[in-house]
Formats: sequence, structure tokens, C-alpha cells
Amino acid sequence: MNSTLPASGPAISLQNVSRHYGSIKAVDNISLEIEAGSFVALVGLSGSGKSTLLKMINRLVDPAAGQLLIDNSNIEDTDPHILRRQIGYVFQNIGLFPHMTIARNIAIGLELAGANSGKDDRVAELLDLVTLPPEMATRMPHQLSGGQQQRVGVARALATRPGLMLMDEPFGALDPVTRDSLAGQYKTLHETLGLTSVIVTHDMAEALYLADRILVMESGQIKADATPAQLLSGDVGEEAEALVAIPRAQAAHLIALGKGS
Ligand code: ADP
Ligand code: MG
Repeated sequence: MNSTLPASGPAISLQNVSRHYGSIKAVDNISLEIEAGSFVALVGLSGSGKSTLLKMINRLVDPAAGQLLIDNSNIEDTDPHILRRQIGYVFQNIGLFPHMTIARNIAIGLELAGANSGKDDRVAELLDLVTLPPEMATRMPHQLSGGQQQRVGVARALATRPGLMLMDEPFGALDPVTRDSLAGQYKTLHETLGLTSVIVTHDMAEALYLADRILVMESGQIKADATPAQLLSGDVGEEAEALVAIPRAQAAHLIALGKGS
């Protein structure tokens, strides 16, 4: 898409990865290569395994079988704490610490990494990056709107300069206008920072707008692996077709508005 930028962010490789809970196959023998610098959306109905797959990439959940490599290193060989410094994670429910200021919420990863020098400057830089005014630093989470809080969530995830961002329905709880504006701003960050991004969303329009590759999950498996153009043209097989039929009109509308790039 933006061919002038160097390939950046890490590449991810999943090799026959599974995670079962009793008889439930949350993730069922998935093999997948994610290119450095790509923006991947995981879509699918609730319970299809999206969150489990995402969490395996930063070892919040370990696979029962198979392996995951980041830039050709098996993530099992990396200390989970060090791994998570290289991977930004944005939670669906935002998950700010209610008793800490916005500045501390953003800096918590830096503090845990022992990177205390220059912390205030970095917080200011991050607030600016997510288009929040500097005076937000001293506020408490409950004083911010949902959209502002989720901007803080994104700033916190970016604090340790990760090359990879994992986002689990990051904009899902927000009103549609705020959601579109945050999604648009994140897309710009993805491009300017040269990130590799994997986002879980149940909003196909959002996936079509943000991602350059869309994986449709069902019952722990990837039923379609397609570009937005392929999904929009209906060239993805019957199974995936049923999952994307409804939002197509909505997505086409968004793209027609010139929001897509
Ligand atoms: P999604 O994010 O697509 O909604 P999840 O990955 O959260 O799906 O869940 C996939 C399936 O695995 C669901 O049936 C869910 O109930 C089950 N599951 C996920 N995590 C656990 C867990 N810790 N214990 C038991 N079952 C789980
Ligand atoms: Mg989920």
C-alpha cells in the first residue's frame, strides 16, 4: 500500500498452532505467515477463537501444540516480560488503572522496563502522538471520555516502541463517530511508525477500511484469508461469503466516502 516505506515491524509465523479447552477447539491447527509491516484484521463471530489466537502471539496464552516464531525466533525461548515489551497490546475494555494518573498509566511499561529517564518527555510525546492535549497527563482515567481513554490505551501500548501491535476489539466499545476517527488515526500511526498490526474486530467495515489482509475465523479455523478487494468482490468462497455479506454495503459506503486509502 505505502511502498515508499521500508519493510518494518517484525514478521510472525504460526506453525500448526492449537489451543483446546476441553472439547472446544478455540484455535484449531492454524498455520499462518504474517509479513513485516502488514496490517491484519481477525474477524469472525463471538467464540470463533480470535482473542485466543491474538493472545498466543504475546504468550498471554500458550499453545497446546505447534509453534510461534517472531522474526524467526521461537517465542517460547523469549522471556514473556521481554517479549511483551516488544509487543504493544491494546485491550477491548481499555484497562487503565483507575487510581493512577494518565501519565503513569502511559509510563507503566517504561517503569516496568526500568526505563525511567526521559519518561516525562516520552509521555508528552505519546500524548501528542495520539492527539491528546498535554494537560491530560495529570488527569485521572474517570475524567476522560471513552475515546480519550482508548487513546491513552494506544499510547500506553506504544510506550516501549514495539514493532508489533496486537489490538483486541480496541474501538468496539466506542460510539461510531469516535470509533471511525480513532481507527483512522491508528491507521496513520501504523503507517508512519512502520508497525506490524494485528487487530481483532467484529466490525467487517472497520476491517475492510484498516487492514490490508483479512482473516475470517470460525470454530478456531481460518475460513478465509483475503485482501479487502477480494472480500468486497465476493471472491472468497461460500463459507466466508455468508460472514461478510451483510457489512459489504456499509464498507463500500465508507470506502466511497474516501476514507479508505
Ligand atoms: P473470540 O475472541 O473470537 O470471541 P475466544 O478466543 O475468546 O473467541 O474463545 C474461543 C472459544 O474458546 C470460545 O468457545 C470460548 O468460550 C473458549 N475459551 C476461550 N478462553 C477460554 C478459557 N480460558 N477457558 C475455557 N474456554 C475458553
Ligand atoms: Mg474475543
